[in-house]
Amino acid sequence: MKIELKGRKAIVTGSTAGIGRAIAEGLARAGASVVINGRGEQRVAAALDEIRALVPDAELTGIAADLSTAEGSAALVAQVADADILVNNLGTAHLNGFFEQSDSEWLDLFQLNVMSGVRAARHYLPAMARRGWGRVVFISSESAIMIPKEMIDYGMTKTAQLAVSRGLAELVSGTGVTVNAVLPGPTRSEILGNWMKATAQGQGITQEEAEQNFLKTMRPTTLLNRFTSTEEIANMVVYVCSEQASGTSGAALRVDGGVIRAIF
Ligand code: NAD
Repeated sequence: MKIELKGRKAIVTGSTAGIGRAIAEGLARAGASVVINGRGEQRVAAALDEIRALVPDAELTGIAADLSTAEGSAALVAQVADADILVNNLGTAHLNGFFEQSDSEWLDLFQLNVMSGVRAARHYLPAMARRGWGRVVFISSESAIMIPKEMIDYGMTKTAQLAVSRGLAELVSGTGVTVNAVLPGPTRSEILGNWMKATAQGQGITQEEAEQNFLKTMRPTTLLNRFTSTEEIANMVVYVCSEQASGTSGAALRVDGGVIRAIF
């Protein structure tokens, strides 16, 4: 199977680092023109340089906008009116105690992890449906199904993304647009990589040992017994954005290394 996305325009939110950065590179390698997004101009410029060095003929645009706010989302759509592919990747997590957390911490995470994708889909989906082709992907998490007790708010936002994704797939049924969610498991992204590095330094062990300890204690159902790479997540996303994935919509696709102990 050869995935060819020449002539398609893709937006990947939160794509200066981590999983989003790998998805942007994967889509660019498949020939799509890609909009890279992050909060700061410098990080956006650095990501553009990195991807251009790896994919010299990549067609890239950079947009610095904080998509956790309605203003940031408006700034994105003001600069990029239209897209064929939207990957709602942006998301974060904080380790926290449920009993210590404030209302505003809950609502801020909801804005970042859920509303960023809701706003982007509300803008870009109608034109995709009118044109009869489009791909929308929400990057959820294994934490959507296996709610972590140390990040209940995060689990809630990731489950919410599955609801939004499935609902939008229903809404655009029969139009040629597909809407899906991808569920990564523990992945060596920037945020989790930094966390594992800091844990390793604090305990005088290697990053691999810190990752193994994390898997044994926090994700013991893993079938891979290792973290996935950002590229492994990107491969699934690039496929689901392809012409060839036209039969898949409304799905929750796992790249969780088998952490979710279920057949479906
Ligand atoms: P990361 O922190 O490594 O990268 C996040 C990216 O988003 C960076 O480019 C950052 O600059 C950008 N960003 C952060 N806040 C932003 C904002 N307000 N506006 C615009 N850009 C912003 O994160 P990651 O681990 O690659 O996570 C990406 C997605 O994958 C998230 O939705 C996360 O929930 C999901 N996920 C990650 C893992 C994992 O193990 N890393 C597992 C399951 C799901």
